[in-house]
Amino acid sequence: MIDIRMKGVRGMELYEQYWNEILELLEANYDESVLHEVFIPCKYHKFSNGYIDILCPNEFILSKLNKFYINRINQMLSKITEEKIKIRFILLKDIEIEVAPTQENATTIVHKKRNINANHRFENYVVGQSNRFAFSMAMKIAHQPSQVANPFYIFGSVGLGKTHLMQAIGNYILDNDINTRLLYIKANQFMEDYSNFCRGKLDNFKQMYYEVDILLIDDIQVLELGEKSQREFFNLFDYLYDNNKQIIITSDRPAQELNIMERLSSRFAAGLVADIQTPDSEHRVNILKRKMIETTQEEISDDVLEFIAAKFTNNIRELEGALMRVLQYCEIYNVPVTLNNCKEALQSLLANRKISDSQSNHSISNVIDVVADFYSLSVDDLIGKNRQSACVTARHIAMYIIYKNYGISYKKIGSLFGNRDHTTVLSAVDKMETELKTNEGIQLAIQTIEKKLS
Ligand code: ADP
Ligand code: MG
Repeated sequence: MIDIRMKGVRGMELYEQYWNEILELLEANYDESVLHEVFIPCKYHKFSNGYIDILCPNEFILSKLNKFYINRINQMLSKITEEKIKIRFILLKDIEIEVAPTQENATTIVHKKRNINANHRFENYVVGQSNRFAFSMAMKIAHQPSQVANPFYIFGSVGLGKTHLMQAIGNYILDNDINTRLLYIKANQFMEDYSNFCRGKLDNFKQMYYEVDILLIDDIQVLELGEKSQREFFNLFDYLYDNNKQIIITSDRPAQELNIMERLSSRFAAGLVADIQTPDSEHRVNILKRKMIETTQEEISDDVLEFIAAKFTNNIRELEGALMRVLQYCEIYNVPVTLNNCKEALQSLLANRKISDSQSNHSISNVIDVVADFYSLSVDDLIGKNRQSACVTARHIAMYIIYKNYGISYKKIGSLFGNRDHTTVLSAVDKMETELKTNEGIQLAIQTIEKKLS
């Protein structure tokens, strides 16, 4: 369980203690998922004018707290103390406004200037198999910077959530202590800054980079482009490392594959390494659902989400972009978000893959024929109830190929295979996605079948 009283070890204010006591009561009264989603991410900020200000990570949680929990929480407070005080939930932006004129120090300037996105948080990072390890390590590091592992090296392809996760660590740390000297920087900006420093155009380079407690450096692979920058980064890295400052790095590939000086890549590889893979279909649908909660009250049918998730498989940015496009399209034309309208909205994006419905039906039956043929089965065996393992595998492959290439819902695919339930199709697709990562036999079978179909 997460230690909800992290601050308890140092001298704690009375009011902070009250908040911790409330957390204990909440822990006893609500189940773990609510606790982790809603209460634990909130942090004591300060006491003023009769209010205990509690910092919430985002507006979503703030509105939940104010809607459902605030009264209960204030009742709890009144049992803890007889003082006439109240809990009040606030956001980081409220504090920034408050401190800006008087207390703007180097860190907050850097923080603002470097543009860490306040919406990149653990709470809105959807976890699935592809990112679970990276996520849980990121949480650990955010709880105890410099004490878990150094550096923390996250790698994965473009659009899979590296920057989001890295900034979530940053936001979490800043939520705990706004004065942490935290710098988020893209590696290309580091190179630019260093080159400006060398040309006498950036005086505070050393102060900016060396006087930090936490360094988040994004897309480190661009360092490949500059040997001088690599050397400077090596110095910076060693300096921070020796001073026990947390370094977090993202990259598009494992450290060993970076074309940079070996003493640097070996240091990266010696830390905690976590990769992020492409999300499976269920994970993609969950990401879309989460995105829906954040952007609109509207309900969208699963058909639509599944269609988008089936078409945009390798890049979460594109996946989100597609959803936004559909929502905007339907809003502009004032039409409901149905599967047909969704297809219309995405038409140009999918131009190459779009197949008219009649062709598509034709092609789907073709898939079934080709798969049956490949496995020397009859079509009846393939779509029927035969439980022999060769049949089951072939069936899963056929479902997977149809799902991936034709963007029709699990439900509809289920109906093509002897009226099977949509959950059967969903787990077949997931299974194939997992198998495809490691099982060469399946990889080869799918490649061959797809070739025959093209
Ligand atoms: P990368 O840095 O790996 O290229 P980003 O972190 O920029 O990817 O992510 C791309 C987009 O996808 C961002 O809008 C991000 O918020 C979103 N995103 C990525 N992973 C997730 C996730 N697991 N849950 C929710 N949103 C995600
Ligand atoms: Mg990125």
